[in-house]
Amino acid sequence: MTAQTVQQGDLVTVIGLEVHVQLETDTKIFCGCSTDQTDEPNENVCPVCLGLPGALPVLNEGAVEAAVKIGKAIDADIPEETRFHRKNYYYPDLPKNFQITQYDEPICADGDLEISVEGERRTVTIERAHLEEDPGSLQHVGGGGGIDSADYTLVNYNRAGTPLMEVVTAPDFRSPGEVRAFLAELEEVLEYLGVFDAERDGSLRIDANLSIIPEDEIESDDVTEIGEEALAAANRTEVKNISSHKGAEKALAYEETRQKNAIQRGRAVEQETRHWDESRGITVSMRSKEEEKDYRYFEEADLPPLRVSHWKDEISIPELPSARRERFQDEYSLSEEAASKLTSTKQVADFYEDIASEFDPDLAATWVADNLLGELNYRDMEITGIESRLDEVTRLVELVATDEITAKNARETVLRSMLDDGRTPDEVVAEEGLGKTGEDEVQQAVVEAIDENPDAVADYESGDDGAINFLVGQVMQKTGGSADPGDVNQLLRAELED
Ligand code: ZN
Ligand code: MN
Repeated sequence: MTAQTVQQGDLVTVIGLEVHVQLETDTKIFCGCSTDQTDEPNENVCPVCLGLPGALPVLNEGAVEAAVKIGKAIDADIPEETRFHRKNYYYPDLPKNFQITQYDEPICADGDLEISVEGERRTVTIERAHLEEDPGSLQHVGGGGGIDSADYTLVNYNRAGTPLMEVVTAPDFRSPGEVRAFLAELEEVLEYLGVFDAERDGSLRIDANLSIIPEDEIESDDVTEIGEEALAAANRTEVKNISSHKGAEKALAYEETRQKNAIQRGRAVEQETRHWDESRGITVSMRSKEEEKDYRYFEEADLPPLRVSHWKDEISIPELPSARRERFQDEYSLSEEAASKLTSTKQVADFYEDIASEFDPDLAATWVADNLLGELNYRDMEITGIESRLDEVTRLVELVATDEITAKNARETVLRSMLDDGRTPDEVVAEEGLGKTGEDEVQQAVVEAIDENPDAVADYESGDDGAINFLVGQVMQKTGGSADPGDVNQLLRAELED
């Protein structure tokens, strides 16, 4: 992190994250059950993920591959050998009463991810990333809907055993905005790697540690180096139940203000776990925070140590968003803003490159970044929603590139009709009569406009160049807007010269 200066008496916000990422595999991490969570409750279960006595876990190779890809993307150390542990706790979402996770020998250690905050590049240290199983999900029914007041609670074990990668950062963040930028970048990287589905409910779940440290307790001049002692002395809260980057920014902004207010009023901040209540926009106290020793970690004897060293060489990863952003700026002379938009998902970037190679990079940038993403965004849609129709968008760009319809009609009529009523570009063009009018027809309209408007012609001939615009308007009207205004202007001038 780069150095920042702090005013005397300032309070410094320190945030670290634990991000649980659901890996996109067809089957669960230790059994062959489907990871589809939209099925009927408790449909995708078996003795292993129900924790029945004697059932033995078998590690899913796909989950390990995904973890190695993540490790390579964040430039982490991937050890020769990695190991699983049992984390013991008693709660109905976990029928074994322990979670199979990793402890002191995680699959990834000491990685980093570069983010851009207000135009400034920052590197966030990722201390570790480890594999573990997701617990089941609980549904509290009746009463206030919360665990304290519900009449009863339903347990659904479809989620139990879904592979998770837990990504743990150093306490490197100094503001909720930085956290949001990091989560957006992480999500982009995961999508590029093809190991994550952002649209799956609960696929990204965030726990954040936040503490406020008075600036004068920090030994270093550089606030990014807080120091072990100052960190240990501060009480931190862990905020749970955050499920999006926007939610993370809101929850942490709330928590930051809450703690600063307490400190400024001379009250102590409790070390505790708090729950982010998204609908109320506040964090509420859950329990005093448990410590690592409470979990009585011990080795998972049912899974042998896993040798991963050779996978590192065998598994390759695609070009990552940051590299692609830079290449787009160099190769296609795009602005940083356009390159960011066009690399926001792998699918958008791939589609842009298709169009750019077939037509022209500038035309492609306008069509993909501005027109297509703009219209999709307006309809609250993603490019994934029109995946099967991308060749129709290509056809539309072709109609513009080959001058068969005007850019204005293409954008305002054809693209919008395509999205709103599902017609193909050729159907819209034919049905709305948008094909550019033939030359003869335009020429005829030009002659008519001149004959019918002697006053405008006289004005033009006496030197009033603006009169030409009136005549252009008349021709456009006669051709139903399908002539090119620039061409009409030329034709009118040529005709009036004679
Ligand atoms: Zn199962
Ligand atoms: Mn975890």
